[in-house]
Amino acid sequence: MGTMKKNEELEGLEPISEEFANAVGRMHQSIAVCDLCGRTHFATDPEVLDLEEINEFKELKKQQPDRYVAWDEWISMGVIDSKSVIPNCPCNRLRLYEDFLIHHREMFEDYYEATKED
Ligand SMILES: [Zn+2]
Repeated sequence: MGTMKKNEELEGLEPISEEFANAVGRMHQSIAVCDLCGRTHFATDPEVLDLEEINEFKELKKQQPDRYVAWDEWISMGVIDSKSVIPNCPCNRLRLYEDFLIHHREMFEDYYEATKED
């Protein structure tokens, strides 16, 4: 993955593309932890998450605003290398993965072509 950047640096970079976000965020959850940074994401829609839980998370967010992310709806998430990843997480660490795919596009295209079925 090359040189690991610090979170602050990544947060200043361009966010991942909508295409990558859609490709990665295939699952929907009411609560999800970003394994790339440890932030907890929670839905604030009472039709998605129990009101009591929503209020508990809101209280936690007040105490540690950097550790909790509130969503109006279901949270889109995916799994990469056994880690839960959330395309819209402020850590923006998925930027590293998208950059990796972009920089090695030809290599992956050759591989997909060579292993294509039928
Ligand atoms: Zn994160």
